[in-house]
Amino acid sequence: MANRKKLFFYSNEQVSYVEAKGYRLKITSFVVVLTVASLFVLGFVNNSYGDILGLGFKTTNELTTENTILKQQIKEMNEQMNNYYSSINSLAHSDNQLRSIVNLPKIDLETRQLGTGGAAIESFAGFISKDADELIGVSKQLLHKLNKEVEFQRTSYEQIYQQYEHNKVVFSSMPAIKPMVGTYSYHGFGLRNDPLIGSLKKHEGVDIHGDVGTPIYATGDGEIEFTGPTGSGYGVALMINHGYGYKSWYAHLSKCIARSGQKVKRGTLIAYSGNTGRSTGPHLHYEVIRNGEKQNPVEYFVDDVDYEKIRAQLVDNRK
Ligand SMILES: [Zn+2]
Repeated sequence: MANRKKLFFYSNEQVSYVEAKGYRLKITSFVVVLTVASLFVLGFVNNSYGDILGLGFKTTNELTTENTILKQQIKEMNEQMNNYYSSINSLAHSDNQLRSIVNLPKIDLETRQLGTGGAAIESFAGFISKDADELIGVSKQLLHKLNKEVEFQRTSYEQIYQQYEHNKVVFSSMPAIKPMVGTYSYHGFGLRNDPLIGSLKKHEGVDIHGDVGTPIYATGDGEIEFTGPTGSGYGVALMINHGYGYKSWYAHLSKCIARSGQKVKRGTLIAYSGNTGRSTGPHLHYEVIRNGEKQNPVEYFVDDVDYEKIRAQLVDNRK
């Protein structure tokens, strides 16, 4: 047991040193009072200036509230993103409709989902609560899918647009109108009785009967490949190369207007009908050739042709 030190003070009354008794109790009381007062002061300071001083009790309360609000907000944003995802997904249907309009293959849902699949998402497990980690995981996954989906759709629209532009050129190049006003003999494609020989012979075009000098128009955009006398039964003839494997052939002409190498538009006046070559009467012999194979031109005619309208369009195009 340590020797407890005693405290003495000099008493003038007793003219001697007197032991001071009860001073420990006084000191203890003083310390207790001081501690309680300090706690009150600390509490006040923490409440008023805790954030600044980093003492923390108020900060913890606020962070808890903030955390609850943040989680709720992330939940709501996830719902919203889910809605966006559904909306974009519903574009898949109209996307396929557009694709089929321009002759592009449709994209089935499986392929689409493969292209917009999920990704490995970083986990914060161990640092934050499990439900918060899950919420953030869902957010990131949704954002990733949204990004992919938008990119997928953008690519598809780009393809559709390019195909549409391509189709416009192809369609305007296709020999698709009737070349001349007149009487069309539609039964004439394939084997038929040749009026001049009197036996079956291949006839691989359509004959259009009309007076000599009837205007003949280019049936599609292209470049004149040949004009002039053929030296064969076709007489004076003209060939347009439309590109994409298509050519059109006009025979028994009286006069060619277009020159070889000239670019023509659908509806451009290219020649006048006649009765040259091996012909039984004034008519235009018209052929459509695709990749070297003669086609039935009738299958290429798009309805009845309004020449005036087409010519007006041509004039418009030149403006
Ligand atoms: Zn013919």
